[in-house]
Amino acid sequence: MPKKITQYTEADLPKAYDANLFEDPIYQSWEKTGAFKPVTKKNSKKKPFTIIMPPPNATGTLHLGHAVMLALEDIMVRYHRMKGEPTLWIPGTDHAAIATQNKVEKLLAEKSITRHDLGRKKFIEEVENFVKGSQNTIRNQVRKMGSSCDWSRETYTLDPGPSLAVRTVFKRMYDDELIYRGNRIVNWCPRCQSTLADDEVKYKESRAKFYYLKYGPFIIGTARPETKFLDKVVVVHPDDKRYKKYIGKTFDVPWINGTIKATVLADKASDPTFGTGAMTITPAHSQIDFEIAQRHKLEIVKIIDENGNLTEHAGEFAGMNAKQSREKIIEALDAKGLVEKIDENYMHNLSVCYRCDTTIEPLTSTQWFISVDKKIPKRNKTLKQLSIEVVKNGKIEILPEKFEKIYTHWMENLHDWCISRQIWFGHQIPVWYCKNCKEQIVEIETPQKCKKCKSSELQQDPDVLDTWFSSGLWTFSTLGWPKNTSDLKTFHPTSVLETGYDILFFWVARMILMTTYALNEVPFKTVYLHGLVRTRNGEKMSKSKPETCIDPLDMISKYGADALRLSMVIGGGPGNDVRLYEEKIAGYRNFVNKIWNVTRFILLNTTPSDLAKPFNKKDVKTTADKWILTRLQKLIKESTQLIEKYHFSEAGMKIYDFLWNEMADWYLEFSKGEHKNPAVLLHILRDTLKLLHPFVPYITEALWEKLGMKNFIMLSEWPTYNKSLVFPADAKKIEKIYTLISEIRRVRAEYKLDPAKKFDAVIYGGALTALLKEKEQAIRRLANLENITLSKKGTKPAKALSIISSGMEVYIPFDQMFDIEKELERIKKELAQHEKDLAGLQGRLHNKTFLGNAPKEVVEQVQSDAARHTEAIAKLKEHRLGLEKAA
Ligand SMILES: [Zn+2]
Ligand SMILES: [Zn+2]
Repeated sequence: MPKKITQYTEADLPKAYDANLFEDPIYQSWEKTGAFKPVTKKNSKKKPFTIIMPPPNATGTLHLGHAVMLALEDIMVRYHRMKGEPTLWIPGTDHAAIATQNKVEKLLAEKSITRHDLGRKKFIEEVENFVKGSQNTIRNQVRKMGSSCDWSRETYTLDPGPSLAVRTVFKRMYDDELIYRGNRIVNWCPRCQSTLADDEVKYKESRAKFYYLKYGPFIIGTARPETKFLDKVVVVHPDDKRYKKYIGKTFDVPWINGTIKATVLADKASDPTFGTGAMTITPAHSQIDFEIAQRHKLEIVKIIDENGNLTEHAGEFAGMNAKQSREKIIEALDAKGLVEKIDENYMHNLSVCYRCDTTIEPLTSTQWFISVDKKIPKRNKTLKQLSIEVVKNGKIEILPEKFEKIYTHWMENLHDWCISRQIWFGHQIPVWYCKNCKEQIVEIETPQKCKKCKSSELQQDPDVLDTWFSSGLWTFSTLGWPKNTSDLKTFHPTSVLETGYDILFFWVARMILMTTYALNEVPFKTVYLHGLVRTRNGEKMSKSKPETCIDPLDMISKYGADALRLSMVIGGGPGNDVRLYEEKIAGYRNFVNKIWNVTRFILLNTTPSDLAKPFNKKDVKTTADKWILTRLQKLIKESTQLIEKYHFSEAGMKIYDFLWNEMADWYLEFSKGEHKNPAVLLHILRDTLKLLHPFVPYITEALWEKLGMKNFIMLSEWPTYNKSLVFPADAKKIEKIYTLISEIRRVRAEYKLDPAKKFDAVIYGGALTALLKEKEQAIRRLANLENITLSKKGTKPAKALSIISSGMEVYIPFDQMFDIEKELERIKKELAQHEKDLAGLQGRLHNKTFLGNAPKEVVEQVQSDAARHTEAIAKLKEHRLGLEKAA
């Protein structure tokens, strides 16, 4: 709330900003007053801006990936809100079925309890309690980042609304025959005891043995002999001349458990260039073999079960762990003389579970699938085609652009999506089976009786849906769908989906697929994929190297959320990885402190009546005023354009530079003393704070209050470019003056002069004399000069160093700058060193052996070093000449 504006004194404003004192109370007052809710201004035609937050796991804690996501989304949301658009950012949490269930099962295991001891109902209660306990942790951590999301609309994937959406979409897809139950090859994790989607399988390059086995007249190659017990079919390519004579024939083949009858089939799936070109098939444990078996209507028999053990079909090996049985099976084959050779160094990609790293067993299982290649009734397109089309025709833009290709390629190769998971926690599949007549009933709400036989003995499918099924509906299930709510009408399709690129396929692709199907519109218009957070040296942060890991919450308590946000945004970009280390965060804390100190200086130099007065163009007085206002307009224009184009890092850098260099280093210096202009100072400060606000919301809000502003800065209007405050001619004049000052500073550095030492100077100002006169005090401070003798023009004083810039001449007497004798001595020494170094380099450049053998870069380096020394020698000689004339 606005307090009475007072005259500030040094005591009111400490010199350092303490983020811990401000951040939590500011967040609470934003939240309490409803500042995060979308506002539609009367008669405003502005389009809404919506982001649905990628929901963190309900039982998780805030990590750097979340922190980057929250910072970027909050920048967008705050910017659009300030532009006056109805802006909505919905927070939420995800139930993360497998991960959460695993966690609770582990906790129970400590008490030697399994989920089966508790039973489904009790176990789910246990999980729900666990989720409730930890949901608050993640919620409060999201708040800590300063995220301006609308908590009144917070959603959890298992809430009644999203659950209804899940059942509704399931039923619709089932009725459209896009969801089916089938016995198909799935990726099975024997440890998680569940299926995994194709993209939940990780690949690990590993070394294994590759076996060449005698199979009748053929040699077949395999890395997994334990799956080969029942291989009765040899497949060859129909055009392979070597095997043409065998096609359609049967053989007796001595095999692992005695002699079997084998048949030879022709199928184009066999690759004549791979191995011997003949292969046997294992339809129950390989996707390709399964497809061949289906084409030829072959029997499909499981050799490996859900625990990763051999089934009864393995004869004497039945019940053994499949992998461990391998050597024994090879021994048995070898005893029969059936092992041709063994390649010990076979490199292949081993599939492992992305959650627990256990080796995946592909096996056939009866599961629920979404068909991606079947035409949708009345739409005449498949889910795959719909999902590719919306990106191709530009309805969805993916940033960075290179991911559009990757997305399309992935979609084109998508197989039917297995959506059932053999766990208890999650959205239970809305399918009931009649115990009496075996009817399969799909309903949105639990049916009481069988439709066919009226029996009330119905049993719901025990499996739950893949987590990504519900998160695929997230942009609209959070807005009230299937009800036609006003939120849904106003805020869907959403504007931006911002997330890490590692989740493009898991989640983004599924949202596109599910939304274009269910709503016949895209879920979002832009996908912004941020990069990974890496260490200072560009390495991946890893838990195994704790010294490289940064805990965002620690950093917030040490440096404040604003500093952390800036350090994660600056240097990043769509798809670009960002480097993060503690010193970088500390550096941005210094910048946050600079904002505080610039404001502090201005507040100490203004009165309550200055603060109360709105800015008026009449307040613009000096050339410096015109210059800074011109620069500010340029900044407003450029930073707005950059934010619109999602170049947040560049926008942040520009605003940072403006505040630190132009505003603090130059304008404040120009404004000290006699040229103080509170009206302009305050105007620039207010606009700069607004531009900074999306990046550093807390400090800007804290200072806004100190400026006595009535409303929150977060609800203020984004500055707009104002042409009437652009003064190009005046701006140029000031730029010339600060170029001159920079030149004097550069010369001081070049001659290694004591930075604190003050000199006298003669300045001939030419056309800029009047302005130089006006800014004389500032120039004296900025260039560290003592007495300035200023006139329009004159003759060059003897024994003085001259600096000429934009028609202005500055002369500094040598004897003020240095003891000439000593300086000549210094030059002599430096010259000798340079000449010696140069001779060495030239020697190498004249050496033919060196030129002939050294890599190109090395030769180039030597050449450029030589040039550097030559230049330094010329400069020193020129300087010496000037001094000798003076002496
Ligand atoms: Zn697993
Ligand atoms: Zn029935």
